[in-house]
Amino acid sequence: MKILIINAGSSSLKYQLIDMENEEVIAKGLCERIGIDGSKHTYKREGKEDFVEEKPMPTHQEAVNLVLAALVDKDHGVLKDISEVSAVGHRVLHGGSTYTSSVVIDDDVKRVIRECFDLGPLHNPANLMGIEACQAIMPGVPNVAVFDTSFGMSMEPKAYMYAIPYKYYEKNKLRRYGFHGTSHAYVSGETIKFAALPEGHRKVIVCHLGNGSSISASIDGKCVETSMGLTPLEGLVMGTRSGDVDPAVVQYIVDHDNISVDDVLTMLNKKSGVLAVSGVSSDFRDLDNAAAEGNERAQLALDMFIHHVVKTIGGYVAVMNGVDAISFTGGIGENSIAMRKNICSYLGYLGIEIDDEKNNVRGKRQEITTADSKVRVFVLPTNEELFIARETKRLTEG
Ligand code: AMP
Repeated sequence: MKILIINAGSSSLKYQLIDMENEEVIAKGLCERIGIDGSKHTYKREGKEDFVEEKPMPTHQEAVNLVLAALVDKDHGVLKDISEVSAVGHRVLHGGSTYTSSVVIDDDVKRVIRECFDLGPLHNPANLMGIEACQAIMPGVPNVAVFDTSFGMSMEPKAYMYAIPYKYYEKNKLRRYGFHGTSHAYVSGETIKFAALPEGHRKVIVCHLGNGSSISASIDGKCVETSMGLTPLEGLVMGTRSGDVDPAVVQYIVDHDNISVDDVLTMLNKKSGVLAVSGVSSDFRDLDNAAAEGNERAQLALDMFIHHVVKTIGGYVAVMNGVDAISFTGGIGENSIAMRKNICSYLGYLGIEIDDEKNNVRGKRQEITTADSKVRVFVLPTNEELFIARETKRLTEG
């Protein structure tokens, strides 16, 4: 069974073709600048040179057409016929509170994705374009939506409600949803399997630390807390996002700089976080280098990031009344040996002991604590595409 995974952005479309017999990626690629001059499609297969084509892609439909043509091309294709694609799995940002798990797409699912445009204004319209392009070009092939918000839907009201007038929840569905859900679901599930956590000992904290960062707490694979909220702006200090701020800060900047609320939100999303604090970069490698050269603001940005991660982990341990395993994932979590060590140096109260030799690892599954550590800590690279492929297989296989 071969499954095509589509992750459509407003002007881009990432894809992977996965063979579910061995869960291997057969081909993958990226269409960029959709709807903009200079559209480009890059197609990759293991061990072969990239195939790059620059052809106009006014809409996502032309992009999907180019992807399918590449997959069956006589020179660089990997399929004899497009009918070998059994199903398509789509990453969809927001399913609102209607969809609490992945679902085979029908008209009602599309209606809900459309209804959530105001909750995910950048992603949901693009996700829907990707879905409609596949439906038009591959009629009869089932499409599955895997929502980034599904994982957070198992939170209890006491965790997901905002303490604001109730009508905003009742009428407008304003609540905490959480994001990176596909990654948290995959990594928490894989942590349970990889660590062979027995029933009753499956309290897992996942630290997805990358340009966008979030932490989740789950018991038996079910989310009980996660740090992002109505939008991905809530929670930790991130690359360019502020994370939590007192909402009065917004009012102050509006009044003080005479700019609109929209402008302030753009600032909080795109020009804040460690980028703003350091004045150097949103990239943690640049921050590490600058801090090593004595740049105090770069060091402060790193310290703030660690502080917020540690504070959140502590809160989640309290909420779950314990933790059995902590997993690091995302670009920073998977690759920064120093960041993992620094964060865990604050977790001695949990009896966590990092084994420096084991922690000397990048992008590979590994337990990084000593045999005596009271809580086990792991590096567990995320694989959102594989999670989507597994969900698609589960929902479409006969
Ligand atoms: P992501 O958004 O998950 O792709 O993660 C991107 C972030 O991971 C960037 O801030 C990178 O600087 C960071 N990153 C990747 N490799 C390393 C590394 N070896 N050390 C520190 N940060 C890293």
